[in-house]
Amino acid sequence: MSYQVIARKWRPQVFDEVTGQEIITQTLRNALEYDRLHHAYLFSGARGVGKTTTARILAKALNCHKTKDKPNLTPCKTDAKDACPSCIEISESRSIDVLEIDAASHTGIDDVRGTIIENINFNPARDRYKVFIIDEVHQLSKAAFNALLKTLEEPPANVVFIMATTELHKVPETILSRCQEFEFRTIPLQKIFDRLKLIANAEKIDIDDEALREIARSGDGSMRDAQSNFDQVISFSADKITSADVTNALGFAGVEVLSKTIEAIANKDVKAVLSVVDDLISRGHDLRNFCRDLLALFRDLLVFKVAGGEQNLFEAAVFSSDDMNRMSVNFAEADLIRFFNSLAETETSLRDAAHPRYMLEIGLVKLLEMRDLVSLENIIERLDALAAGATLPEKSKPASTHAAAAQSATSEKKTLNDEPELSSTEFLDEPRDDFSQFDETIAEELPAEPEPKPFVVPQTKLTPATSAELEHIDDERLDNAYEEKLTFTGDDLMPIGNAAKLAEAFSQASPKLVQTTYSNGSSATAAAPAIDVSAMIPDHVREPENIDIPTLSDDPTDEELRAYAEAHPAVRRAMRVFQAKIINVERS
Ligand SMILES: [Zn+2]
Repeated sequence: MSYQVIARKWRPQVFDEVTGQEIITQTLRNALEYDRLHHAYLFSGARGVGKTTTARILAKALNCHKTKDKPNLTPCKTDAKDACPSCIEISESRSIDVLEIDAASHTGIDDVRGTIIENINFNPARDRYKVFIIDEVHQLSKAAFNALLKTLEEPPANVVFIMATTELHKVPETILSRCQEFEFRTIPLQKIFDRLKLIANAEKIDIDDEALREIARSGDGSMRDAQSNFDQVISFSADKITSADVTNALGFAGVEVLSKTIEAIANKDVKAVLSVVDDLISRGHDLRNFCRDLLALFRDLLVFKVAGGEQNLFEAAVFSSDDMNRMSVNFAEADLIRFFNSLAETETSLRDAAHPRYMLEIGLVKLLEMRDLVSLENIIERLDALAAGATLPEKSKPASTHAAAAQSATSEKKTLNDEPELSSTEFLDEPRDDFSQFDETIAEELPAEPEPKPFVVPQTKLTPATSAELEHIDDERLDNAYEEKLTFTGDDLMPIGNAAKLAEAFSQASPKLVQTTYSNGSSATAAAPAIDVSAMIPDHVREPENIDIPTLSDDPTDEELRAYAEAHPAVRRAMRVFQAKIINVERS
């Protein structure tokens, strides 16, 4: 029996077998089951993630003969003895009612006309639906799209379009708006791995898990790519397949090389880093791919540090969490971000580098150099510590004035005494006590000068007051300032007991005239909220008591009305309590 490539042999035949697109397949199943079928679907997503496969399964489900007058949610598998002719023909791309068009090679209007327009008005020849599967639909010419659009606007009954594209942005808006869209995700590494393992077991292929994981990783989220890489590895290897076979056959750096690189960066081992590059070159590996793999690893390490072992964030991770932990302890988050940015630049420059090898070497050595940088946080921390009164180490104590005096002393001394010169740094490193000796000698030989006083950082610290002490500080100025602040900021440190009632009262739409009596005996009749709010206002936001009540003429102008409102105690109180402004004054 001839060898059949894995991707073909193991192509999913029912919705359940489509890996990594569970939400989409479930939605489609529901649509079939509850008769909510759309007449046009658009599947978008990267290559090899199951778009065409799902389109064929949908077509099979629509037309399977196993069910009468309704779609079959689990259509026939082609190797089943009792598979219906429709299912078999669809999987062999020769069903008369399911037409597949590859828009990549049939882009013109004549193709659309020939295949779709001329066929669309005929009823299905044998089956329930006429299905058009258009692959790479974004490749169609403008005229072809326009022709397609007309049929999408008024499709005959029993016609279903299923379009697939890897470049959604190239599909015209007019088409998009007439389709139900499904976005196919790239497939998580673990799911590709599981599927490959199932295949390996069924096909009795002797391969260890590590090697399978490398193959899964090589697919980069695409099941089809991973499976065709698997084919390549099988044809390359003799009996038992190891991860070395995989990296050799596929020409990419294995996890071992990545882990070695990380270790070299952590240890600042330039030699080890250069030998990694040498190894990549001698095996003929693609340097840009290596960069991308290393970038992915930096990203994973960063996520690992930030999020811990959140499994679903590690879709591309090939290392165990123990390995991740071991590698990530060597780096701070800021390190990893710097590495990532720098390596991303290297990766870009590799694209058209005349000497990619040198470029990568320099790029990696740059990462080692970055380890010497002190983080800004660290510097700020140290400054804070100093500001908080931490003392400097004893050796660096002689501060500016003293050091300057000492330095001038050495130069004087050199001219006077013919003694061996002390370099100023040696001098500064000497313990402080030794300065006194020099000071004495200088004092004998030089005219007396006022002795420079060492610079002392003043250390004033207030003993912290307890909250009990603070409570009992009686200071009118402080108290007033505090209350004023509360009043004008609306700060709820001292909540207004009736705030809700107050708000309600002030927001009442139709104010009526009420008599407001103030505690000094004066009283005023004014337009005020229907509820007398004065009793609700707590003491600390009360107006001063003897305030002038404004008067209003019989026929006031708008300006007078506004001035009246602004001056009125009730309004002023409302403005203060709610920090409001008068926007408009209306006559009632
Ligand atoms: Zn069938």
